[in-house]
Amino acid sequence: MSDSEDEVRLEARLREQEYFRPPSKFVGQANVSDPAVYDRFGEFPDGFEEYADLLDWDDRWDKVLDASNPPFYGWFTGGTLNASYNCVDRHLDDRKNQTALLWEGEDGDQRNISYQDLYREVNEMAAALRSMGVEEDDVVTLHLPMVPALPVTMLACARIGAPHSVVFAGFSASALAERVNNAESDYVVTIDGYYRRGEFLDHVQKADAAMDETERDPEVLVWTRHDEPHDSVSVSDDYTMVADLLEEHRRERVDPVARDAEDPLFLMYTSGTTGKPKGCQHRTGGYLAYAAGTSKYVLDIEPEDTYWCAADIGWITGHSYIVYGPLALGTTSVMYEGAPDFPHKSRIWEIAEKYDVDVFHTSPTAVRQFMKWGPEYIEGYDFDFRHMTTVGEPIQPEAWLWYYKHIGDEDAVIVDTWWQTETGGHLITNLPALEDMKPGSAGLPAPGIEPALLDDDGEEIEPASGQAGNLIIKKPWPGMLQTVYGNDERFIETYWADFSDTDSDDWTDWNYKAGDGAVHERDGYFRILGRLDDVMNVAGHRLGTMELESAVAEVEDVAEAAVVSREHTEKGEVPDVYVILREGVEESDDVRQRIVGAVEDEIGKFARPANVVFVDDLPKTRSGKIMRRLLENISNDKELGDTTTLRDPDVPERIRDQMKAD
Ligand code: ATP
Ligand code: MG
Repeated sequence: MSDSEDEVRLEARLREQEYFRPPSKFVGQANVSDPAVYDRFGEFPDGFEEYADLLDWDDRWDKVLDASNPPFYGWFTGGTLNASYNCVDRHLDDRKNQTALLWEGEDGDQRNISYQDLYREVNEMAAALRSMGVEEDDVVTLHLPMVPALPVTMLACARIGAPHSVVFAGFSASALAERVNNAESDYVVTIDGYYRRGEFLDHVQKADAAMDETERDPEVLVWTRHDEPHDSVSVSDDYTMVADLLEEHRRERVDPVARDAEDPLFLMYTSGTTGKPKGCQHRTGGYLAYAAGTSKYVLDIEPEDTYWCAADIGWITGHSYIVYGPLALGTTSVMYEGAPDFPHKSRIWEIAEKYDVDVFHTSPTAVRQFMKWGPEYIEGYDFDFRHMTTVGEPIQPEAWLWYYKHIGDEDAVIVDTWWQTETGGHLITNLPALEDMKPGSAGLPAPGIEPALLDDDGEEIEPASGQAGNLIIKKPWPGMLQTVYGNDERFIETYWADFSDTDSDDWTDWNYKAGDGAVHERDGYFRILGRLDDVMNVAGHRLGTMELESAVAEVEDVAEAAVVSREHTEKGEVPDVYVILREGVEESDDVRQRIVGAVEDEIGKFARPANVVFVDDLPKTRSGKIMRRLLENISNDKELGDTTTLRDPDVPERIRDQMKAD
């Protein structure tokens, strides 16, 4: 049998299969392999103490949950702890020489930062920040790329009890200024520059422009990517060089400040996929407990592992699952500075091989990118993941199977993790050794989490009935946001008002609204449909954009697709399809026909797309999510709206120009 016939058979077999069992060698070594975990966490709220017990507390809590003033909950109240102590100091006795952060620069630089090194660097930076006047509860804004300075500064802030607000490095000066204003921040920490696709980017100029724009007058501290500031960059005399400060505070030690469990640890703005980003405020005790607990139970990491979450620390995934969770558990966490395709499309696999990565975390959008490039870029690299995860968007079964086969070698367990900036950690995801994998489905609720689906009138839909509804979470959990920074009203309005009795002070009358639609399948698994706003009404039929996109993705030549609604006088709304083709495929009427045909076959003739637009790029957020609202505005010839959180702000205009030309 030829290779390609072999391939076809395998694809067919994989496709027919609905569930995939975790490999027994995985189950044998897993951190959680006893289903009793669900019963333990079923003891609400005490079950969550199991996560809090993973941490070292200065004072143990009096109360697990204070629900006296919903939705402003208190977790582990009366307890005190320090996050930097938990992520660094407490590991020194057992593993001070073990690598904490394994950093690979895009230019090939490499650093192995042991827990002892991290301890020294965090202390010196904490002393430096204090010497600049940073006090407990001052918000420090970090505009740093994927270099060790970022986690070091975060942990230094945590050490002195100053909440950090990390702004993704790719964001513009305006986005930075807006967040400095919103967080009332008087300190900005930045860097001269960093590497992206072989180029040294002048980063500090964004701080310059942001300082012109903001109404505040923050102190600006500047790290350098190399020992000296880069020749191509000029740093204002008004700024303070971090290197000079560190020199002054060599070998200094700063006692970790005992923080109340409810004191804020950081602010993190949402991705802005659906509108203006919300500044989520996260608490110290509950957040850290939840990040550590889910890292241990869901990501299944142990201190001996080399774990790589190939996301950016500039969004919540990186906070919980590059920095706080893995370091609280004392593991080795990999960080990569650059682009996945620089200098070649095998860079990720080269790094995985070089560091012998055990656990790998990425996003569906990255998987689709790898699919688009083709499996030849993976072949020949010797790595062996035992566990892989995805986050950020629903993963189409198509992409899941590809991930399973080509990256996991049909031998790794995969979990899809549904959660949000607001939730601090995973909420719906299978525990990897306990549940079968099901492509396209996020799976069961995490221990102690109680999701439900409501119809638009707020009535609960019968559980596991296979129907779709609004996803809510009925009980609070330790990782949840405390509020939207400085805006309790927006907090209530956005997350609670729709499905809660807001006059009640009984917490059971309050439900957290996720803003996503989901189906609770008969097997108990939750399948996430995407945003509630991404549902369209075609001739009286309600269709999720996800379903349409999955149908389009079935066409071989399609690498990535986004479907949005175009207003239509007769049908109400009709789908427009935006498509990126796989490498080497030319656009043609034939491909167009096959895309239209796939939608007609999978969904029905009524859903026939009005337009199929071939594009080079889709408008995406920094975290790789498609901003469908922008495409929808293009389809309907409307103003674009807020584009500040786009990774590449020019994409919508390019698409618009192209559509005019076609
Ligand atoms: P904003 O709230 O500003 O519009 P955002 O919701 O994209 O932006 P994030 O908090 O980064 O900001 O993303 C959370 C959202 O991502 C979820 O509400 C959901 O729509 C989507 N999501 C995350 N993980 C998954 C997953 N595993 N499956 C499906 N969707 C997911
Ligand atoms: Mg959101």
